[in-house]
Amino acid sequence: MTFDDGPDPLWTPRILDVLERVDVRATFFVIAPLALKHRHLVAETLDAGHEVEFHCTEHVRHTRRSRRAVEADTREGLQALRNLGIEPSLWRTPWGVHAPWTQEVAEEFGLRLASWRADTKDWRGDTVPEMLGRIEPLLGQGSIVLMHDGLGPGAQRTGCEETVALVEPLVARLRELGCEPTPLRVTVGEQRVGA
Ligand SMILES: [Zn+2]
Repeated sequence: MTFDDGPDPLWTPRILDVLERVDVRATFFVIAPLALKHRHLVAETLDAGHEVEFHCTEHVRHTRRSRRAVEADTREGLQALRNLGIEPSLWRTPWGVHAPWTQEVAEEFGLRLASWRADTKDWRGDTVPEMLGRIEPLLGQGSIVLMHDGLGPGAQRTGCEETVALVEPLVARLRELGCEPTPLRVTVGEQRVGA
């Protein structure tokens, strides 16, 4: 289970609470300036046993930036996270969009690209039944689920209530399928990440 676009002072604590309740560790792909601004949330996330990995500094599609600009963005973001004591090894790019050179940039920085299999499309403001219905056929061993604990630039909703509400039924469904959610590094080991 992965969460992008945080940390968010309102929604990240609620996601952490519900993950604690269901006893699941997840992976958070953070926006570096938000991580610096809300460093206590990053610390809480790590203390609870979750992974914090790199999303971006500026949330812009790689196809709309130069390679040099993305390299600078990545360098700045990784430095910010290092200042918080985090050494990311996974990278989910903004919007999950890759330019032809994204893989090479990832390798330059020692990062592995992390995609997903099941997109909840929670950013759109869908309800829990809609989201569960859509992703259910995609759930299984090794499946990576995309959710958001923050309101990124594409969000068509004003809050993340439905994502908070999705966690418990999603975990229940996964356990019915015999799957136990783990942080992404555990799920994927040293393989390339993605579906
Ligand atoms: Zn994002």
